[in-house]
Amino acid sequence: MAIVELEAVSRRFPNGVEALSEVSLTVADGELFVLLGPSGSGKTTLLRLLAGLDSATSGTIKIGGRDVTGLPPRERSVAMVFQDAALYPYLSVFDNLAFGLRARRVPSKEIKARIEPVAASLGLEGVLDRKPGTLSGGQRQRVAFGRAIVRRPAVFLLDEPLSRLDAPLRASVRADLIDLHQREGSTILCVTHDQSEALAIAQRIGLMERGKLVQTGRPADVYQTPATRFVATFLGNPPMNFLPCPGNDWGLNPPRNNLVLGIRPEDVTLANDPVGDASSARWTWLPDEAELLRIEYQGHESVATVLLQGHPLCVRCAGLASISAQRLRVGLDKSRVSWFDARTGLRERA
Ligand code: ADP
Ligand code: MG
Repeated sequence: MAIVELEAVSRRFPNGVEALSEVSLTVADGELFVLLGPSGSGKTTLLRLLAGLDSATSGTIKIGGRDVTGLPPRERSVAMVFQDAALYPYLSVFDNLAFGLRARRVPSKEIKARIEPVAASLGLEGVLDRKPGTLSGGQRQRVAFGRAIVRRPAVFLLDEPLSRLDAPLRASVRADLIDLHQREGSTILCVTHDQSEALAIAQRIGLMERGKLVQTGRPADVYQTPATRFVATFLGNPPMNFLPCPGNDWGLNPPRNNLVLGIRPEDVTLANDPVGDASSARWTWLPDEAELLRIEYQGHESVATVLLQGHPLCVRCAGLASISAQRLRVGLDKSRVSWFDARTGLRERA
């Protein structure tokens, strides 16, 4: 069992920076959990505490039900893969894969037996004699994964493993990561600042903001019901739109005053004329018209930006948007509206 538990874990650095504050989190055995947050939000600090490379100022860390808070890295059965795949440049791929096992005095016959299937599954069997410098970036990242896998840790800690790769490589190593999880069934905690990556690979996401874990949930849940305006903005590209509380004349029944309306770009529609798509029950048509600012064509969709009562509003349209008029009717999907407190940014549970 490799359940990972953090109970009220804080890390304050000597310079006064509180990198983590009272983080409590449980990652289930075999789960692929993605920690998502902007740079500086405390993601690496959290992984380092789990790996035992740094110590918490307060709180408890358990791995597999065992309190490991004070234990050194090698007694924790975790393997951490860093952002930059730090391989030993003068060692062959095989020796890089074997390094951690030799340090643990695993017999050389067993080392070979462990490395062969892992190298095959990662497509590295043909490059075992090569030095890292002669490999592509994707191959180097696979060696870094392989080095973690052969150790058979209970938990994998991956710190932005894809961020240094260019786009096509990132897609292929991302697929490797999902395959790895499906094959090994191991507990994986992966860190990223890339929201689309998090949504694509996670079974559950945890959102970090300035050292705090602000929401955890399945990708579709955090995307559709963000707990705060920060989460609503961080997830989705373009992000959720916000409009000041319109009062009841929009027919949307805000639960109370001092709220901000949130709506995703795909939950808004535009119509050239007053009749438009009014027959569809999905859309609530607003009494105010919007002014078209621009349309950005993106192949499979277009993103239109309109000005509604002086506020920009992004609208996702399928394919090539056929908008011609400068004044447009705006329809909102009432069932997809979120409400946030105008002052605190917290979601209103209506
Ligand atoms: P992330 O990985 O999300 O980008 P980090 O965990 O690296 O964030 O950093 C969180 C915060 O802690 C940042 O403000 C960073 O500057 C600070 N920090 C990280 N390591 C140290 C350190 N050793 N000493 C002082 N401050 C640090
Ligand atoms: Mg980091």
